[in-house]
Amino acid sequence: MEHNTPLISTVVVGLVLAFILGVVAQRIRVSPLVGYLLAGVLMGPFTPGYVADQKLANELAEIGIILLMFGVGLHFSLKDLLSVKNIAIPGAVVQIAVATLLGIGLGEALGWGLGGGLVFGLALSVASTVVLLRALQERRLIDSERGRIAVGWLIVEDLAMVLTLVLLPAIAPLLLGQGGGDLSALAMPVLVTLGKVAGFVIFMLVVGRRVIPAMLHYVAHTGSRELFRLAVFAISLGVAFGAAIVFDVSFALGAFFAGMILSESELSQRAANETLPLRDAFAVLFFVSVGMLVDPSIILRDPLPLLATVFIILVGKSVAAFGIVRLFGYPQSTALTISASLAQIGEFSFILVGLGVSLGLLPDRGRDLVLAGAIISIMINPLFFAILDRMVENEEAAPKPAGPPDPKVVSRDPPPVSELVNHVILVGHGRVGSVVSTALRAAKMPFLVIEDTPGVVERLRENHVDVITGNAAAPDMLQAANIGHASGLLVAIPDAFEGGQIVAKARALNPTLPIIARAHSDEEVAHLKYHGANVVIMGEQEIAKAMLLKIGATMAV
Ligand code: AMP
Repeated sequence: MEHNTPLISTVVVGLVLAFILGVVAQRIRVSPLVGYLLAGVLMGPFTPGYVADQKLANELAEIGIILLMFGVGLHFSLKDLLSVKNIAIPGAVVQIAVATLLGIGLGEALGWGLGGGLVFGLALSVASTVVLLRALQERRLIDSERGRIAVGWLIVEDLAMVLTLVLLPAIAPLLLGQGGGDLSALAMPVLVTLGKVAGFVIFMLVVGRRVIPAMLHYVAHTGSRELFRLAVFAISLGVAFGAAIVFDVSFALGAFFAGMILSESELSQRAANETLPLRDAFAVLFFVSVGMLVDPSIILRDPLPLLATVFIILVGKSVAAFGIVRLFGYPQSTALTISASLAQIGEFSFILVGLGVSLGLLPDRGRDLVLAGAIISIMINPLFFAILDRMVENEEAAPKPAGPPDPKVVSRDPPPVSELVNHVILVGHGRVGSVVSTALRAAKMPFLVIEDTPGVVERLRENHVDVITGNAAAPDMLQAANIGHASGLLVAIPDAFEGGQIVAKARALNPTLPIIARAHSDEEVAHLKYHGANVVIMGEQEIAKAMLLKIGATMAV
């Protein structure tokens, strides 16, 4: 039978090889990413055997980027995004400038001239969305301030890239010394591009904000899980694609906005869950597609320039990011997270070098160095995060220096410790927590809520409930709730993984505290008990009990 199914073979061989090598990598204690990248190298044109379709692989990777950015948008409100603009905009601009200058320097040394150096430097300056978001998601940092800054930074880089891709063809003749470049003529494409981005943002805020959540709510009320799932994919992929076609913005930016529009809806969590499995599968294909681009022999052919390239990505960019974040008065842990997040390059760089080569600005050698630099930096990136985890742990363990607080970091200091004693700490004030808090109030039991949704927090404050804003799993939150003097902890959030983190932290801080947690399956019950919960209530079982009670039967357990 004749097989001519390049899409199927790219997906299947990619996933199967990535799976096998990912497991092997995990087994020998390196990041599975390395396995995925090597799977790509094996499927690429530079190694013998099967060669997958590069163009298809790139498109599949693009779907991974869309789903990832959509997922991130679901955790972001416009307010969150604007709250980090003061650091994200100057941070990204300075970092891009530093990396570009370093790239131009290396380009000069290799005899490429200004145009080649510029493309090379810009390619080294932009981080990969997929690598950054995966690393943050793995550490559950997306909802933290550090995570928000990193994502804001990424969005500024994304916009800078959109502009660069528009401008580069226009200034190429100038850079090549062919003349014809009238600098004032550049104003037009820049204005048009900025106008399109603004048009997209306005369109999403005015039209999208009304239509998209309404559509999702309508579908949710049909009760069809399948249609809901379909709606989520249709919205994320549809908006991203539409944004790229109509407004010329990147897929990533389009998807991010689609997610952000939905973040205010109470269905956002459900929408995020629906995209998880596909998102992960496509993110794996992203790494495979990167691996396919790389000719491993470059390590032998061009070792020193490659080393210098990797040095700029890993060290040059990190030092610049670290410096500027510290300069803005943020703690070391934030600066380290941002540096580690950005110490890699990926998909944007590939697009940029591709364009640079086709315009005759960058020699093939420059492109090969960027591609190899990307794969090496992506492989080393998890190591950076491991070092970061160690350093942040040390920083948190170190005694805090006394003395007057730095006014710039006051707002980021740990929240003050509550004066309540013998109180109940309630984590989460949603469907479960709100019922609990009403009863606690009626029973006149003192309690304090930890809740991370700003709208819910506002409502609680209006009702004069003691509340601490933020993720209860974040450092210092439980201390701020005066857990040492509490009479009990109720973990009323739906995510048992996060619940487990909270329970473990609470148990470490107060070994005798009664802890009651919420679960939805036997595995979750075991997980929460393992981390130190005294009692775990499984929602589904309680529903069953209540149903039987209502009908006059008792449940044989
Ligand atoms: P529900 O599932 O309706 O009971 O809602 C759970 C509530 O817990 C929501 O209001 C969430 O904002 C909140 N929540 C979830 N995770 C956390 C967390 N780690 N820290 C604080 N609040 C949380």
